[in-house]
Amino acid sequence: MSLEAGKTPKKPLLDVQRLKKFFPVHGPFGSLGGVKGHVKAVNDVSFQLYEGETFGVVGESGCGKSTMGRTILRLTEPTDGKALYKGRDIFQLPGNVMRDIRKELQMVFQDPYSSLNPRKRIGPALEEHLAIHSIGRKEERIERVMDIMHKVGLQMDHYYRYPHEFSGGQRQRIGLARALIVSPQIVISDEPVSALDVSIQSQVINLLQQLQEEYTLTYLFIAHDISVVRHISDRIGVMYLGQMVEQASTDSLFATPLHPYTQALLSAVPVANPRRKRERIILKGEIPSPLHPPSGCIFHTRCPYVMDVCKTEAPVTQQMSPHHQVSCHLYSH
Ligand code: SF4
Repeated sequence: MSLEAGKTPKKPLLDVQRLKKFFPVHGPFGSLGGVKGHVKAVNDVSFQLYEGETFGVVGESGCGKSTMGRTILRLTEPTDGKALYKGRDIFQLPGNVMRDIRKELQMVFQDPYSSLNPRKRIGPALEEHLAIHSIGRKEERIERVMDIMHKVGLQMDHYYRYPHEFSGGQRQRIGLARALIVSPQIVISDEPVSALDVSIQSQVINLLQQLQEEYTLTYLFIAHDISVVRHISDRIGVMYLGQMVEQASTDSLFATPLHPYTQALLSAVPVANPRRKRERIILKGEIPSPLHPPSGCIFHTRCPYVMDVCKTEAPVTQQMSPHHQVSCHLYSH
């Protein structure tokens, strides 16, 4: 679904507001030594997810994008902020309600093998996933497993195979089957194709797109490879050191990247037309530690356009157009 086609629904399905996830760091004697500081893995991130769209989140490894996905599903508890799903704050829901909601919010991991029981055959494992969510009677569950296996391109004889008997691409199909079998509304995919060969990557991405259309799914697609994110996303958020520094429709982001970090990321993407050569921007220095993020703008230690103000004042997010916002002093009025 393209937001620029004017189809933007009024209310977001998921509205993440000022999300923070800090991890305490203890001294050499563990928790006995008290808290020495906090790793600010996710720091004040806000975005909306609209029904039927794919919102891609991109950034270098360690930027907090995976922690953000896991926190939204409460696989780890948030430090602060809200995540309104159909208007209700996920973070305030009691355990029994959260169990029901979890069915509607599923996650696909980079390595589905780690979420599969190595001693359990795939068919019964998928069936058990349905039983946990109290879905259907035994025969209905088996039928549903067969159906979803077919939908994700697995064979019927895979039903009685163990996880180690599958290739990486097949395991990712199992991961998708596991997420989709409970009829979710939102699927959060965390680096779902980054461990796969390029040819298999495109098969899995195409499958994700087919399934999205068939089941009207809404995707939060997290990956470090901006070319992959571009291929599948209607809108993209760029994360750096726990913060979302730019958000835009995919077309707008690629046509006019505003944040210097986004410009550097895009400069590394090969351009199809050899006449339109893009100059590669090499960022100086390493990504700073989220334990001691830089003052002011978190990107100032690596930014080619850094100004004095950037070192002391954090930029405020500016809405540059209906589908494009950025946090950078270059655009402050
Ligand atoms: Fe660079 Fe300053 Fe913009 Fe940060 S606020 S990205 S340091 S120009």
